[in-house]
Amino acid sequence: MPAEKARALVLRTTDWSETSRIATLWTREFGKVRVLAKGGRRLKSAFENALDLLTLCDIVLLRKSSGSLDLLTEAQVVRRFPRLRDDLSALYAAYYVAELLADWTEDYDPHPRVFDEAVETLAALGSSGVAAGPRLARFELVLLRELGHGPAVNNCAACAGRVSGDRLAFSAAAGGVVCERCQNRHRDRRPLSAACWQALESLPESTDSNRHLNAAVRAELRQLLGHYITYLMGRKPRLLPYLGS
Ligand SMILES: [Zn+2]
Repeated sequence: MPAEKARALVLRTTDWSETSRIATLWTREFGKVRVLAKGGRRLKSAFENALDLLTLCDIVLLRKSSGSLDLLTEAQVVRRFPRLRDDLSALYAAYYVAELLADWTEDYDPHPRVFDEAVETLAALGSSGVAAGPRLARFELVLLRELGHGPAVNNCAACAGRVSGDRLAFSAAAGGVVCERCQNRHRDRRPLSAACWQALESLPESTDSNRHLNAAVRAELRQLLGHYITYLMGRKPRLLPYLGS
């Protein structure tokens, strides 16, 4: 049974026995893994405090055959994100990132781009000059794209015709923007402003994710992404009602 090294973000932990914990980790190398940390509840263990929620750590794990939990043998803190503790909107946004990764990705389905984006998002949230809403929207759009659900933006999701910013709508069922001609056939459609349409296109590509989106556009973007992700997941994410825009 080979020992594997990985860089991991701690998404969730549960006490398992008097001394052990089960942790859900999102690794750059393997995607989501669930591990048993023996001795993980002892103060002086091989893990110190590396298994605190939303901590970035380097881990060593022993992969088990299917059906049993992998065994965590080492975990060392690489980075914490203390600014999250000082800003409630940033903290809720970070919990939402963890919820999407924990509940909406498969075990052992790696997406290094998602991992890097998650870490960058946690680092940016709570920084002065960074609006949590657009930063989180960028993470959601990168995640959607990586999971194969990136919304159609430049071409109509129904007829594939090129769209411009006028009289657009968004349909979760169709999988993105729908043009004026196709809108009648998509009853779940919601109107989409030209500014929000542009944000959908530019946010995942820009390095400056804290773009100058006004409050109305940020609110529209939050509504649209929440609606689309709820549709795709089949339920409303628990943290969704707590997110600002
Ligand atoms: Zn169309």
